[in-house]
Amino acid sequence: MKPDIATIAEMDRRSVLHPFTQAKEFSEGRAGDPTIVDTADGIYIQDAHGNRLLDGFAGLYCVNIGYGRTEVAEAISRQAHRLAFYHSYAAHTTEELAILSDRLVKMAPGRMSKVFYGMSGSDANETQAKLVWYYNNLRGKPKKKKIISRERGYHGCSVVSGSMTGMSFYHDHMDLPLARIIHTGAPHQYWHGHEGESELDFSRRRAAELDALIEREGADTVGAFIGEPVLGTGGITPPPEGYWEAIQAVLRKHDVLLIADEVITGFGRTGSMFGCDHYGIEPDLITVAKGLTSAYVPLSAAIVGEKVFEVLKDGADRVGSFSHGYTYSGHPLGAAAANAVLDIVEREDLPGNARVVGAYFQDRLKRAFAQLPIVGEVRGVGLMGAVEFVADRERKLRFDPSLKVGARISQAARDRGLIARAMPQGDILGFSPPLVITEAEVDEMVSIAETAVRVVMDELA
Ligand code: PLP
Repeated sequence: MKPDIATIAEMDRRSVLHPFTQAKEFSEGRAGDPTIVDTADGIYIQDAHGNRLLDGFAGLYCVNIGYGRTEVAEAISRQAHRLAFYHSYAAHTTEELAILSDRLVKMAPGRMSKVFYGMSGSDANETQAKLVWYYNNLRGKPKKKKIISRERGYHGCSVVSGSMTGMSFYHDHMDLPLARIIHTGAPHQYWHGHEGESELDFSRRRAAELDALIEREGADTVGAFIGEPVLGTGGITPPPEGYWEAIQAVLRKHDVLLIADEVITGFGRTGSMFGCDHYGIEPDLITVAKGLTSAYVPLSAAIVGEKVFEVLKDGADRVGSFSHGYTYSGHPLGAAAANAVLDIVEREDLPGNARVVGAYFQDRLKRAFAQLPIVGEVRGVGLMGAVEFVADRERKLRFDPSLKVGARISQAARDRGLIARAMPQGDILGFSPPLVITEAEVDEMVSIAETAVRVVMDELA
């Protein structure tokens, strides 16, 4: 017999350690019941009580093709019936895995060569760090190991990827970051620009700071730089003009590899297939996850560029086989899901939809929010956007964190049927809807958000 809703909630509270949830309040029942997500279709999810919510965050920026696509479910089922699992160690493969890898190497930006698979963005970035270290060991540069990431960058929650993440919220009480991972300034002019500085000058200053950091550490100790083409969890912040061009010039000068973390931006979100395409980034290594399978099955990948692979290949006779892998690397169900999802991404031109409907969305966001007295900045690109709230627009002063303005607005939206995320770094309402969203659905999303913002604004007045 199926358990009733109260029983499910009780079992959950008793037994699940939820990510990013206050453990005491939740387990003692003082934070209410868990939301039991039951079904989903298109851009809407439905809870066990039958409440329908417009998912303005595509799960966690991942269900790009929307929910309930039977074509993908059938591809997974077909593969599960034919061969649910075999590993990819020691040169074993499956038809779906070979097809997917060939496809990814061809579609990825830059000069890519091989694909290594994992299950999450975090483990893929862990792999990237090992690749950087391995590469420099094989090149006879054993000191060239530090990895630079940005403050407010988000690269995951495992030990190395969590260290790459540039927000103390993810480090505190967890003994992170590791010493080999260092941070440079966030690419966000609104908070970090100087008085009277142009956007281009701000970008050049950030690049000069990176240059100085590498010089200070010693270029012979710095192996790689990792960045999201568009800062995601750190606040959904597109790069300032000229940023990537200036940063890449510094990396080239110091022989530092560039890892593009495309976990959010990969497969269309910016309006281009990859964020690298959008911003003229030529990476050495690329991390993808989320949109790769639209989260229908967990799958991530570290895509390895020719430059790195050539060194791995040349070193193989000396060091033997590439000693890295997971039981589930290249899992057949993940590969089958990814091929079916990428068929949809290409056939329905979801990058094109993110460009066209995304432009409409950016315009709607600006028109709804830019003039409100508690809004400091409205920003975004394609189908990712954010509204940042401030106590004082003129003087750019933040709200007292104890007011929990971002969280209250997000909750007010939720009470009205919309999921829009309170981002962790400031009072920010973030949007990242499925890439299949229509203009009419954008209208619905923005108008619910506007009501929510006005309700909280009135409470604060
Ligand atoms: N990199 C980026 C840019 C992300 O946004 C995320 C997750 O949000 C990750 C890495 C980590 O991915 P996962 O949560 O699958 O480990």
